[in-house]
Amino acid sequence: MASYDVIIIGSGPGGYVCAIRCAQLGLKTAVVEGSATLGGTCLNVGCIPSKALLHATHMLHEAQHNFTKMGLMGKAPSVDWKAMRAYKDDVIAQNTKGIEFLFKKNKIDWLHGWGSIPEAGKVQVGDEVHEAKNIVIATGSETSSLPGVTVDEKIVVTSTGALDLTKIPKTMVVIGAGVIGLEMGSVYARLGTQVTVIEYLDAVTPGMDKDLQKTLQRILKKQGFTFIMGAAVQGVTSTKTKATVTYKLRKDDSEATLDTDIVLLATGRKPVTDGLGLDALGVEISPHGQVVTNANWATNITGIFAIGDAIAGPMLAHKAEDEGIAVAEHFAGKSGHVNYGLIPGVIYTSPEVASVGATEQSLKDQGVAYAIGKFSYMGNGRAKAVFQAEGFVKILADKTTDRILGAHIIGPYAGELIHEICIAMEFGASAQDLALTCHAHPTFSEAVREAALACGSGAIHA
Ligand SMILES: Cc1cc2nc3c(=O)[nH]c(=O)nc-3n(C[C@H](O)[C@H](O)[C@H](O)COP(=O)(O)OP(=O)(O)OC[C@H]3O[C@@H](n4cnc5c(N)ncnc54)[C@H](O)[C@@H]3O)c2cc1C
Repeated sequence: MASYDVIIIGSGPGGYVCAIRCAQLGLKTAVVEGSATLGGTCLNVGCIPSKALLHATHMLHEAQHNFTKMGLMGKAPSVDWKAMRAYKDDVIAQNTKGIEFLFKKNKIDWLHGWGSIPEAGKVQVGDEVHEAKNIVIATGSETSSLPGVTVDEKIVVTSTGALDLTKIPKTMVVIGAGVIGLEMGSVYARLGTQVTVIEYLDAVTPGMDKDLQKTLQRILKKQGFTFIMGAAVQGVTSTKTKATVTYKLRKDDSEATLDTDIVLLATGRKPVTDGLGLDALGVEISPHGQVVTNANWATNITGIFAIGDAIAGPMLAHKAEDEGIAVAEHFAGKSGHVNYGLIPGVIYTSPEVASVGATEQSLKDQGVAYAIGKFSYMGNGRAKAVFQAEGFVKILADKTTDRILGAHIIGPYAGELIHEICIAMEFGASAQDLALTCHAHPTFSEAVREAALACGSGAIHA
């Protein structure tokens, strides 16, 4: 039996980042991971592999659609799907091996196997029981099920199966117009698959600013997506090569079916807590299956903490990482902190979509008076030069104080640009502060400055 200051169960971005910070702060740390590689959902079957395929297919799209416009002539590249998947697997391997290296460098023990908590202060892995002053549950999430839909990861797949289809399908039905469905749909649409998205609600990417939702859906339609909105999937039947999706339109209860090669179930994710022994310990679980924690990520059982997708909040890698760092600081007697009001959300479609802070809808609901500064990429010289002038930057500022309350971007490098606004918001900046900051020309970030100008006396290039 080994004794640790901290044992973390799960090596995703929450768990591994927590472990590194604990080790840096001088705590003896171990991580339990049952999968063959470190890095969790994010590195193995989530953020990283999906972005690799999005990058490769974006390059293909550029070659097919924009190269000749720039005088780059010649045959457009063809797709070797096996090689593209091998590239994706190589990216995964480089990243997961990188975490192994960081564990060794920081003297973090990897306890191989599936962990459970037989009692507070103890973690069982296989036949071995280890002691820990503090235990962190960082077991992440898995795809939620949908009644009437049985996943086989061949014809009816989750995002995990979608990352590894053996051939490019002619048709794909994506159930759910959330981030994962639209990103994986984009990968296949660019590879020539006819993608149909069936969504229960009337807008894509629930919870995002309405302007973004409408613009994203319009752009994806232009890219070949078909959307069936306001439709509840009733069930999926499948053979070895095909599937049939039955759905009902909410507006008139009419039922219809759709035949397809592949069905991607992307209706959301749920926390993983099975097998940890939490019921027997009396750890409080919410009606949504999340481990309930307080402001210090402590559960109701002394010495047991939880972070990441296993607890409440957006299921995002950077949110899990920030919680991992904060709880480690807490163990070391410091004051770990996460600003939940400032967690950016990014969709890596083309164009990218990024959001932070309040939406117009949330400000209306709270009765906050606000000013809108909106700037179209049509007025951004750099965006026009690279054929990415569709979209906008929208900044919401307090009508009285001019303090920035939220920002919503759809356009090139939105996922990078949003951080300029995150930092401004962390420092309580006004839109005028952003507007008065010199931005290099010609950059995409000039669009952010113009939107900030538009909150006040007006954008220049509008
Ligand atoms: C296709 C896809 C794309 C995504 N893209 C993005 C993105 O672009 N940006 C973003 O921010 N987020 C993205 N996400 C979400 C992101 O992956 C998660 O929010 C993040 O991985 C959560 O981190 P975590 O540490 O809480 O858990 P996870 O990464 O899920 O890791 C949990 C780990 O715990 C292990 N584990 C579970 N139970 C046990 C046990 N009993 N014993 C031992 N080990 C155990 C699991 O094997 C796993 O390795 C994506 C997700 C998917 C599915």
